[in-house]
Amino acid sequence: MTKPRLSAAIERISASQTTAMTDRATQLREQGIDIISLSVGEPDFATPPHVVAAMHAALDAGQTRYTPVGGTSAMKRAAALHFNRDLGVPASADTVTTSSGGKQSIFHALLATLGPGDEILIPAPWWVSYPGIARFTGATVVPLPTRPEDGYCISAEQLAEAITPRTRWLLINSPGNPTGGVYGAGELLALAEVLERHPHVMVLSDDIYAPLIYTGEPHATLPALRPDLADRVLTVSGVSKSHAMTGLRIGVATGPAWLIRAMERLQSQSSGNPCSISQAGAVAAFEGPQEFLADWREAFRRRRDLVTERINAIPGLSTPVPKGAFYCFVDAAPVIGGKVADDGALALHLLEHGIAVVAASAFGGDLCGIAGFRISFAASEAQLNEAIDRIEKGIAEL
Ligand code: PLP
Repeated sequence: MTKPRLSAAIERISASQTTAMTDRATQLREQGIDIISLSVGEPDFATPPHVVAAMHAALDAGQTRYTPVGGTSAMKRAAALHFNRDLGVPASADTVTTSSGGKQSIFHALLATLGPGDEILIPAPWWVSYPGIARFTGATVVPLPTRPEDGYCISAEQLAEAITPRTRWLLINSPGNPTGGVYGAGELLALAEVLERHPHVMVLSDDIYAPLIYTGEPHATLPALRPDLADRVLTVSGVSKSHAMTGLRIGVATGPAWLIRAMERLQSQSSGNPCSISQAGAVAAFEGPQEFLADWREAFRRRRDLVTERINAIPGLSTPVPKGAFYCFVDAAPVIGGKVADDGALALHLLEHGIAVVAASAFGGDLCGIAGFRISFAASEAQLNEAIDRIEKGIAEL
């Protein structure tokens, strides 16, 4: 038999731990074991009917052929509308591109620009895929640890200290996964002053959770606040989280034309165009009614309040109240060390109690002194209550 021979690049990464835990939960369910999965970041709402109708219509019209690599012209117009209207980011059909998910946009942007010797600054806790994608390119990940008392935001001083001549990217994710941290305009403007002094640093702004901010403050994002820096910012967004379209795999990005072209060049050699039917759905999502987003946000806010209140009442667990997105980053340090050696073991212990969560260390929690787990509260209130009952029982056994 041929010996497995993998590339150095693939050896540098492991499978996404959120995906691994979700797959494990699905397997157990298929074996008839009752598992509530709060491991995946996916709204439980049904995809809006006008989006589904647009996809049916596209199928009926025979739109089953290749499209331009970065999306149909209708898709690009709709993406440009989204960036301008929803994020305040200047974009035109020439400076946007569409991919098979925000994850792929980030993958293509980093693969097109990074290599060995380059550095990327990633605030921690981080979304699991950022360091994995960056390491795949051969670049060095420079973590910028954040603290709950700072709202999980980096400071201007921290950024200034971390930048070197090798720094190619700063990653900003607001609202953030896994902490729900949100950068306000003041914080971003302070970072912009540092960036101004370092024109070699690009910013990848992942705004995919923009509609989900619970503070009443409007979403703030760098290129909207500082249009003079816009030619150094790649903004990534999508429909997965906002419109409950995770499985349809559409992501959108806007940034300098040279980078958008490079991402499309790479995409032309990887996946090609994103699914033509999903593009029709995404056009309807961006161009159709947006009012329901406020109702969804309100439902998420109620769930957030329920989860944080109940988690904070469990001895040994604590979580700040997230300002955005749909995750709680739970500190469980007081219950770790005895029966469970680390937070990976804690996640497995909770799985035995019928509840799937992801260990904080998967998100770089350990770099910030946090041992615990991330909960997604994108589930019904009944499910969340049952899940927290199980967590409570599991924790009481430690
Ligand atoms: N960015 C963040 C912070 C995420 O949490 C996710 C999904 O979990 C994505 C991007 C990518 O989403 P998708 O590839 O479904 O568009």
